Amino acid sequence: MNFLNLIEAKRDGQTFSPVQINELLLAYTAGRIPDYQMAALLMAIYFRGLNVDETRAMTLAMRDSGEVLKFPADPRPLVDKHSTGGVGDKVSLVLAPLLVCLGFRVPMISGRGLGLTGGTLDKLESIPGFRTALPGQRLIEQVQNIGCAMCGQTDRMVPADKALYALRDVTGTVPSIPLITASVLSKKLAENISALVLDVKFGTAAFMQTKEKARDLAQAMVRLGNDCGVNTRALLTNMDVPLGRAAGNWLEVKEAVACLECRGPDDLQELVVECAAQLLEQTQRKAGLAQGRALAVRCLASGEPRKKWDELLLAQGADVTAFQHKLSLPRTAPAVMECRALQHGYVERCDARVIGELVRDLGGGRFTKETLIQLEVGVDELAKPGEALGANSILGRVHARNEAEAAAGCARLQSAFTIAEGPTRLPPLIQEVVV
Ligand code: URA
Repeated sequence: MNFLNLIEAKRDGQTFSPVQINELLLAYTAGRIPDYQMAALLMAIYFRGLNVDETRAMTLAMRDSGEVLKFPADPRPLVDKHSTGGVGDKVSLVLAPLLVCLGFRVPMISGRGLGLTGGTLDKLESIPGFRTALPGQRLIEQVQNIGCAMCGQTDRMVPADKALYALRDVTGTVPSIPLITASVLSKKLAENISALVLDVKFGTAAFMQTKEKARDLAQAMVRLGNDCGVNTRALLTNMDVPLGRAAGNWLEVKEAVACLECRGPDDLQELVVECAAQLLEQTQRKAGLAQGRALAVRCLASGEPRKKWDELLLAQGADVTAFQHKLSLPRTAPAVMECRALQHGYVERCDARVIGELVRDLGGGRFTKETLIQLEVGVDELAKPGEALGANSILGRVHARNEAEAAAGCARLQSAFTIAEGPTRLPPLIQEVVV
């Protein structure tokens, strides 16, 4: 295989055969293609795209770059959820234990932060001792024993996505419909699940900035997911404002635990409950969405998902006592600064892109593949659109490595907010369901 010819072919708009796609992914995963050449091919794909057959071939080749999980027969359906990424998106942390308590098994293979958006694995690694690398057999055993596992791809599970995901992140090739489709679905197909709910975000901090593009992505993923035998649906959700009141790895874990304890925030709980209700309907465990939502809310309120969360932590090596202690600390970053409103009024907007860039620049996200991220930095106590503010009310708090970064962060946090004189109409969080 002459890789340069393939780069040139895609640059010039030609179509690859499934065999070519298979070969090039095999060669890349085996280390026979350098990152600079793969980066060039990714950019060619970004501009030229992949057709349905190429995307399918790429997805299956990525899935088959490692092992595909084989679970024992069990009445509990295997399900999962995946988000295309957003600021403050900690839904998975709450949803996985909730789904287990609703009678599902959840083998959740997640990713790291990409672009401005946080990653579930980075968040989990802010928990003392939590191990995100689980060999396939361990993952299966854990899912059978406690109902769920949350881990990353390994060198043996979807290794092609592991390498490509990191490369795309630093080469401006993330917002490509076929590349996102292949990345998301290769991981989910390797889990061997029967139903999948996707959270496809649109807005200033999403890879897909417009609802139309997000719908195109959702339709591509739903079509291919169903085609590959996984009952797949997608929610189109708004990412113009951060989800919840916190963004940053540890701060999001803290907020996820609050949600598991029914202490909000409302938008996070709404999205968690909707994902659960969709999966209940997809797997015919509840006939209607309204019933599914009510069941999910009751289950969350029972406290069982919170207990399941501790079980998950224990199973993956976390020190639960140290975790509880960390939760009780008012702050874990060296410097924390409150940012206050300069005028009274109503929050009209809190720009998720500004918040995402701020968290990344505080050290909470990556600029290059090698960046070591800061787990304790970020923002919390964010004022939410629609809320009334007095002059001097808190807009949010900045958690930083030092006072100077906290002060600079506060100024940027101010600029994320638009304050209106009166209440304004807020767009719904969940705008469409693609089936
Ligand atoms: N999530 C993924 O797993 N892959 C992408 O490419 C984007 C979001």
